Amino acid sequence: MRLENMLPRQLKHAIDENWPLLVPAGCIENHGPHMALGNDTILVREVLDRVAERIPCVIAPAFWYGVTGYAVSGPDEGTMDMDTDVFGHYAKEVLRAFLEMGFQKILVVIHHQGTGGPEGLALQRAAGQLMFEKAVAERGRGWWGEHPPETHGNAFSTLRVLDLIRPESGVGGDHAGFYETAFLLYLRPELVNMNALGEEPLPWFCTRDGDRSEDATVEEGKRMVEAIIGALVIELSK
Ligand SMILES: [Zn+2]
Repeated sequence: MRLENMLPRQLKHAIDENWPLLVPAGCIENHGPHMALGNDTILVREVLDRVAERIPCVIAPAFWYGVTGYAVSGPDEGTMDMDTDVFGHYAKEVLRAFLEMGFQKILVVIHHQGTGGPEGLALQRAAGQLMFEKAVAERGRGWWGEHPPETHGNAFSTLRVLDLIRPESGVGGDHAGFYETAFLLYLRPELVNMNALGEEPLPWFCTRDGDRSEDATVEEGKRMVEAIIGALVIELSK
């Protein structure tokens, strides 16, 4: 269920039942001539909508405006880039508000540049800071306690940042090449125009040996996306 569509009573039920909150993170970025600019955010949102059909959870509105470093294009080709620190401060405020709503398990899910990219690191920093601040506020200095964390709860388990593609899924990744094109072809076919790949010149990331956008198919996308969903469901069920 998407948070923005919920009634207050539905939110209260989700909190009482300890449903996890899943927060998609992404960006607006050029993905070649054939794919939608919002691909990285759209992939996360579409996958999480399907996860929500299998386990009870709430899907938050996405972090749409992210950090790209203009890695693949300038703004004239559709990429937007936010200052990393500004993004991190804003993300921290959003995550703080989710904690104040009462969610006990919040997972930010990112595909764009992974958890180790600047946006993923900014989100991890925000999450870590919030967990420290929460622990001190609730339990005071020395909050780590006199007993092991498993006896009073791991302070960091409330708020985590996860890669959309779990290693256990066995699925690879790229930028607008075979993998991402196949994912989007399966999830949102109307947002891919394979005919545009006939236009020249194509960017390098669409034409690499063994990883060409034009080789992507709906069938391959379905197989890989199902593996991604399966691995996420197992991770979120822990
Ligand atoms: Zn991408």
